[in-house]
Amino acid sequence: ALLFGLLCGSSIGLLCFFWLMMRANPRKEILTGIKQNQFHVVYQPVVDSKDLQMRGVEVLMRWQHPGAGAIPPDAFINFAEAQQLIVPLTLHLFDLIRRDAPALAKRLPPGSKLGINISPGHLHADSFKDDMRQFAASLPPDHFQIVLEITERDMLNQREATRLFEWLHLEGFEIAVDDFGTGHSALIYLEHFTMDYLKIDRGFVSAIGMETITSPVLDAVLTLARRLNMVTVAEGVETAEQAKWLRDHGVNLLQGYWISRPLILEQFLSWKPDIHLD
Ligand code: C2E
Ligand code: CA
Ligand code: CA
Ligand code: CA
Repeated sequence: ALLFGLLCGSSIGLLCFFWLMMRANPRKEILTGIKQNQFHVVYQPVVDSKDLQMRGVEVLMRWQHPGAGAIPPDAFINFAEAQQLIVPLTLHLFDLIRRDAPALAKRLPPGSKLGINISPGHLHADSFKDDMRQFAASLPPDHFQIVLEITERDMLNQREATRLFEWLHLEGFEIAVDDFGTGHSALIYLEHFTMDYLKIDRGFVSAIGMETITSPVLDAVLTLARRLNMVTVAEGVETAEQAKWLRDHGVNLLQGYWISRPLILEQFLSWKPDIHLD
C-alpha cells in the first residue's frame, strides 16, 4: 500500500501511508502534530429552516499531515481515543477556537451556537468539568451558546450521566445528541436524559427524495423530538429538495453542503448565504 500510494499519489495510498505511520507510532504523530500546528479547524454554518438565516456553526477538526496530506477526523479521532490523547487534542482544539473567537464574534451575532464535538473519552475524564469551564471562560463573554455534540455508545452509568448533563446545563452549556439513528446514539438517550438538540444523521437525510420508505421512520423521530421539546437539526443536507422536505416536516435547523461546506476562518468570515427555497 505504501509503495502503491507513493507511486500513484492517490489519496487512498496516502491514507494507507498515514495508517502505517500511525500504526508505528501514533502517540508521537499526534503529539508532534499538536506541537507543530498541523491541526486546524473549519466552520460549517447551521441555518434556520424557515428563513435560512445563520444560527451558528459546527466546528470540525482537520489534520494537515506533512507526509500524508489532509487526514479526515474520522481517521484520527479513533487513534487519539485509543492512545488516551483525546483530552490533549480537544484542549488543542479549544485553543484553536479561542484564537479565532474574536473574529467569529464579529461575524456571528450574540447567542449564536458554537457546536463542538466531544468524544466519549473526554466526558469520562477527571478534568472534563474544569476543561469546559476554562474553555467557556476563554471566549468573549456571553456571546456564544456552546453546544456539546455527543455520540455515546457505551453510556456512562445513568446516574453519573444525569448528573453530568445537569451540571452542564447549570453552567450554561447545551447538549446535542449527534448522529441520531446510526447506532452510535439511540433512543436510550432520549428516554433518560435532557438533551437540547437532536441531530439527524446524514443517512436519513440523503434518503429523502430517493426512497419514500424511509420517511415514516424520519417522521416518527421528528414527532418524538417534538414531544420531548428537542430542537431538531438535519445534517448532510445536499439539495434544495431535501431542505424543503425537512422544513415542511418541521425540522428546525439545517446543515450541509447545500448551505455551505465547512470553511476555514477566512472563508467563513466572508461567507454569504446564497440559498433560496419557495
Ligand atoms: P459529525 O460530527 O457527524 O460531523 C459532520 C460531518 O459531515 C463532517 O465530516 C462534515 O464535513 C460532513 N458533512 C457536512 N455536511 C455534509 C454534506 O452535505 N454531505 C456530506 N457528505 N458530508 C457532510 P468531517 O469533518 O469529516 O468529520 C467527521 C466526524 O469526525 C464528525 O462527524 C465528528 O464525529 C468527528 N469530528 C470532527 N471534528 C471533531 C473534533 O474536533 N472532535 C471530535 N471528538 N470529533 C470530531
Ligand atoms: Ca457533530
Ligand atoms: Ca453528526
Ligand atoms: Ca459522524
